[in-house]
Amino acid sequence: MVVFKTVREVRDFCQEGKSKGKSIGLVPTMGALHEGHVALVKKSLEENGITVVSIFINPSQFNNRNDLNKYPRNMEADIQILKGLSVDCIFAPDVNEMYPAPDERLFNFGSLDKTMEGRFRPNHFNGVAKIVSRLFQITEPDRAYFGEKDFQQLVIIKHLAKILNYDTVIVPYPTVREKTGLAQSSRNKLLTGKQRANAAVIYLTLMEAAGKTDLPVSTVRDWVIGKINENPHLDVEYFEIADRETLQPSHPRERTGNGHVGCIAVKAGEVRLIDNILFNK
Ligand code: AMP
Repeated sequence: MVVFKTVREVRDFCQEGKSKGKSIGLVPTMGALHEGHVALVKKSLEENGITVVSIFINPSQFNNRNDLNKYPRNMEADIQILKGLSVDCIFAPDVNEMYPAPDERLFNFGSLDKTMEGRFRPNHFNGVAKIVSRLFQITEPDRAYFGEKDFQQLVIIKHLAKILNYDTVIVPYPTVREKTGLAQSSRNKLLTGKQRANAAVIYLTLMEAAGKTDLPVSTVRDWVIGKINENPHLDVEYFEIADRETLQPSHPRERTGNGHVGCIAVKAGEVRLIDNILFNK
């Protein structure tokens, strides 16, 4: 396994691999790796000749400096995990390498980034698009792997690949969870034991909501928010039931069923957790 810090090295590495007929799989991450990341990496290893895992905490997608400063970092452990999986290449640039000049691009995602995360984290998806487009231009991946845990991000990246005419196939991966049901997240490392145990309520409630497909959207929405807010350790920032493709909020009187996704953000103390559920009936 090679660990590169420069754009030139990783670009040459990928181009050389391609010239030998190998396909490139890219797994973009911000490090502090967990089983969710590992699952994406394993899928890429299965499907590609070369797997590149990027580890870069992208400042342009943080709208809160404190959140950026506190974001978990664990490069040594990450390298060991990826070595154990026989990943071909880690790309871990510093900020100046990734952004040698200010990147002032503004992406237009139409209505996709006006709801949910986009509403509570202004410019977040614009920052995500800056880094993902750069990584795509550098590595020219055949496939790139993204988790359904960040559902809105996945939809926006599929859209980005279309508006920028990338050939890269965007491969989604289902959310990997802890035993309690809590979605794996680097931010879980910031939770106290008590918060972590209580955070399991988020997915348990979403699962229960998934059975309420005969009820109207507004009823299910209010029920989920009320149920989670009953827990003194948790505070719902939003729970929105939306169309899975357009991400537009579903009509309050519409029946909650097939084609809908329920996306949630919850604060456990200072830690912000997100999750989602697909309604399938
Ligand atoms: P991050 O390092 O949090 O930016 O995540 C890197 C990639 O891993 C993104 O595509 C995430 O959606 C994905 N990911 C994060 N957590 C999970 C999870 N629990 N299950 C599956 N994929 C995940």
